[in-house]
Amino acid sequence: MNEFGLISHYFGQQPALLPAGHPDSLLPSSSTAPHGNALAGGGSPAAACMPQARNPVLLGIGDDCALLRPLPPGWALAVSSDMLLEGRHFFAGTDPVAIGHKALAVNLSDLAAMGAWPLAFTLALALPAVDPAWLAGFRQGLLALASRAACPLVGGDTTRGPLTISITVMGAVPAGGALRRDGARPGDQLWVSGPLGAAALAVAQRAGGGHASAAAAERLDWPLPRFDVGLQLAGLASAAMDLSDGLAGDLSHLLQASAACCGQPLGARLLAEQLPLADVLAEVEEEQARQHALHGGDDYELLFTAPPHRQAKIQALCPTARMIGQIHAGNGMLLADRFGNAAPVPAKGHDHFA
Ligand code: ADP
Ligand code: MG
Repeated sequence: MNEFGLISHYFGQQPALLPAGHPDSLLPSSSTAPHGNALAGGGSPAAACMPQARNPVLLGIGDDCALLRPLPPGWALAVSSDMLLEGRHFFAGTDPVAIGHKALAVNLSDLAAMGAWPLAFTLALALPAVDPAWLAGFRQGLLALASRAACPLVGGDTTRGPLTISITVMGAVPAGGALRRDGARPGDQLWVSGPLGAAALAVAQRAGGGHASAAAAERLDWPLPRFDVGLQLAGLASAAMDLSDGLAGDLSHLLQASAACCGQPLGARLLAEQLPLADVLAEVEEEQARQHALHGGDDYELLFTAPPHRQAKIQALCPTARMIGQIHAGNGMLLADRFGNAAPVPAKGHDHFA
């Protein structure tokens, strides 16, 4: 099979995109979507009545460029790329279905973290050889998630080389309503959208040569972008980001960006009792569990801040979210126990060049 045969065989035909609100869709049904609920081209009866309901893709795979319809007035285009390399982002021998899923999931997670609706994505793929079984699995995982996120593959590049998967996602976000990292202010509460540390446990177990516990492997290999949370937080959260490199490291980036924006140093006080440790962390000692939750990457939950008066509303909209601490003026991250004793938290998270 040559390059062009490969592209059309594996990526030419795509499964139907699910409309927002479908039971298997990752997108909440909402009248605020940029192309209505008919992003998938079909859509619910309600979406069909929306004046702006239309498919964003004018031209997909096959020409020199894909063509996307301009966004309606008031919407901004959100763009992000993430690359996955064998041996660095996944272990050699990982199920190709999971690799396809995760390659797109980590990209979609960035859209969810900005409060953006998915529009389309491109795929740049380097393959050491044409392995039909691997490609069929990769395609299955990739395009099943694309369908659930109503995010079609519209182009890319394919070349021979060490296994590398690079995806660029495009999304749409209300221009003034994007969830940025730089909006946290002193007094804001700090939230995470769900349990932490399971993916880090799986990494530790596999790095030790063993098998990862099923629940931990599930979190590492099959992360799901939290559109259900990110798309609800507009107007509620003051800042947000997704947790890819670990809570402490990612929080330090949010604090830095927000400090630069408001012109004063910012820190955070985390409440140890409130950290949402993943259930599977019961397999390890309490201190180890806390280290995984604080410094382990790959959870792809959302970290966000909001003024305290929004607490009840946030909890009602996002029942899995947990309030884990507070932002304050002045540098530093502290972890406080239930007696009020606080210890500094190092900003260490995942760093490819550390
Ligand atoms: P060009 O040489 O003009 O850049 P290519 O020959 O690389 O185009 O690709 C041909 C068509 O196939 C283009 O529309 C491109 O977007 C698409 N394509 C290439 N690789 C992939 C891929 N891995 N996934 C999806 N589409 C792809
Ligand atoms: Mg060309």
